[in-house]
Amino acid sequence: VLSVRNLHKSYQDQHVLRGVEFDIRQGQVKAVLGPSGSGKSTMLRLMALLEPADDGEIRLRGRRIGVREKASGAVALPERELAKERRNIGMVFQKFNLFPHLTACRNVMLGLTSVKGIHHKQAEEQAMAMLQRVGLSHRAGHFPSELSGGQQQRVAIARALVMNPDVLLFDEPTSALDPELVGEVLDVMESLANDGMTMIVVTHEVRFARRVADEVTLFDSGVIVEQATPDEFFDNPQHQRTRKFLSHVH
Ligand code: ATP
Ligand code: MG
Repeated sequence: VLSVRNLHKSYQDQHVLRGVEFDIRQGQVKAVLGPSGSGKSTMLRLMALLEPADDGEIRLRGRRIGVREKASGAVALPERELAKERRNIGMVFQKFNLFPHLTACRNVMLGLTSVKGIHHKQAEEQAMAMLQRVGLSHRAGHFPSELSGGQQQRVAIARALVMNPDVLLFDEPTSALDPELVGEVLDVMESLANDGMTMIVVTHEVRFARRVADEVTLFDSGVIVEQATPDEFFDNPQHQRTRKFLSHVH
């Protein structure tokens, strides 16, 4: 569904992404591991079309949605086209990013009413169905400040899901949570995976990666170092860099 070729990104004089190549098939779940500062969040932001790449190509269902190719002179899509493509890619952030002045239900509805132009009543129904999906129909009228971190993150997942994206990107979705709230969010993510959602999950949750992911990726210094099935990745890594990384997390 989504493929990335030769992705490059620099900030000032720092070359953060150095030719990332990445493919994810329909229904696949990829876990991305890697040290802090290696460029994982940057890679997701580029895939979500929140920032332009310096060089490379991003394809969604075969369409070129993010292009900037130094060689051919191709440039990024115009903003109006980008806005349209962004709807097809959902993103869940470490810090939830809910609107504090809107209830859970309104947070989930917002994309439907403002971006898709769906009528209030219908948007509300769809939002309620998604809140039920993440186990929060009884909290629909609560404001983010009245919800636990785990509940807020589940609202954020419902907000991404309701747009019916082709792929969902998660950036360390449980890193900001108290340990006892991590499980409820991982459970929701696992159930999405079981329902066939296409997902890229940047995470430190090694056990989740092993249990749920179809493929595990090690990202380091702006490139993908290793990509393998969970069993291969954890039990028989091919690269010294992966062995070293795993020795720190186990
Ligand atoms: P972490 O595990 O800590 O979240 P990460 O792998 O997600 O790390 P990124 O957030 O992608 O890493 O950052 C990669 C590098 O790019 C870092 O050195 C960071 O300082 C730099 N960087 C990221 N975003 C920007 C920005 N908007 N402006 C300048 N530098 C940035
Ligand atoms: Mg990050």
